[in-house]
This record gives sequence, C-alpha cells and structure tokens, in this order.
Amino acid sequence: MSKNKRHKKRMESKKSIIDETISKADKNKGLLLVLTGNGKGKSSSAFGMVARTLGHGMKVGVCQFIKSRTDTGEEAFFSTHKNCDWHVLGDGFTWDTQDRTQDIATSQKGWAIAQNMLNDPSYDLVVLDELTYLLSYKYLESNGVLADINSRPAMQHVVVTGRAAMDDLLELADTVSEIADVKHAYRDGIQAQKGIDL
Ligand code: ATP
Ligand code: MG
Repeated sequence: MSKNKRHKKRMESKKSIIDETISKADKNKGLLLVLTGNGKGKSSSAFGMVARTLGHGMKVGVCQFIKSRTDTGEEAFFSTHKNCDWHVLGDGFTWDTQDRTQDIATSQKGWAIAQNMLNDPSYDLVVLDELTYLLSYKYLESNGVLADINSRPAMQHVVVTGRAAMDDLLELADTVSEIADVKHAYRDGIQAQKGIDL
C-alpha cells in the first residue's frame, strides 16, 4: 500500500474513534476547572475563558484574591466590559502584608463577594483567581468554600487558579490542568513584561 493510502486508512479509523467519543459526550453542566502547578499560564488561561464567555454574550464575575494591583492589562481590558464584574480583593502578597489577622479578614470579605456570584445564576462564569492560597494558608475554611462552590447554579462554570491546589478541590473539579515550570524568564533576571505578565 502506498504511503498516502496508509495515511488515509489510519485517518479513517482515527476519525471513527473520535466521532464515536464525541457522540458519547451528550451531557451539559456547569464545570469546575482547576488550573494549578508552578508554571506560568494559570491566570492567563482563566482570562482566555473570560474572553470566550464574554464573546458569547454571557456574563462573567472575576474575584482576584491575594493580589492587590489594579493596573493589570486584564483588569483594564475586561472591567470596562458591561457583562464583566471584576473585583481585586487582596491586600498584596503574604510576604508584603506580614499580617495574618488582616489577611484572614480580607479573605473573608473577599469570599463574601465570591459567594454572591456563586449564588447568582446570572453569572455564567466565575473566576476565583489565586483562591488556592486562601485554602492552603487556611485563611478560609476549606469545607465551607468547597460547599459554596458545589452548591452553585447547575449551569455556572467556575475556574479556580493558584499553585498547590488541595486534593479535595481536585476531587471536586471536572477538569484539572497542572502547568509545569519548564523555564521562566524571571530566572534570567528579566522583569515582568506588560502584556505577558501583567
Ligand atoms: P499568569 O498570570 O502569567 O498566567 P500564573 O497565574 O500561572 O501566571 P502566578 O503564580 O499567578 O502564575 O504568577 C503571576 C506572575 O508571576 C506572572 O507575572 C507570571 O509570569 C509570574 N510567574 C508565573 N510562574 C512563574 C515562575 N515559575 N517563576 C517566576 N515567575 C512566575
Ligand atoms: Mg495567577
């Protein structure tokens, strides 16, 4: 058999397998996605889904925990969109604040805003950016947070980002990606670049 014929045969059989798999996927539900790992690309992936959702005319809520900067490109871009509610809810990195009591109070105030979104079916997508740190530092009680996420409206999607996601959260999730840190320009002494890092 010629090379081209063999290729066509392989692709035919591949297509039938893929088509069968796709036809079996007949369920619809609000998904919980967790983007974790030490590599770059967790939050920016979440913002990609924000763009997709808004592009479909759907409504998005974003809660940014930990970080306090309000000069990022993503906030400047998305917060002007009529269907996007954007909240920067942190006081800064823990090594900057150095105040656990304050961090806990800030986290709880921030979570109240997330809870409103998780109770509101008008939000099609809720992004909980850097939430994992609030759980690993025990700033928020994880059972309560997971219960709030679990009892959200049936068709609402939630994306959680942050390193070292806890097992309970991974278990609850429908889709989990762990982004590996293969290389980062930062280690070559390169500053955070506008458009790439912020
Ligand atoms: P991004 O927002 O760029 O998608 P991220 O959400 O995956 O990154 P974070 O831990 O939230 O990663 O870090 C945010 C900032 O730190 C970004 O400026 C990012 O480029 C940088 N960063 C991410 N991973 C690393 C790393 N492994 N080493 C150094 N800096 C990193
Ligand atoms: Mg991030």
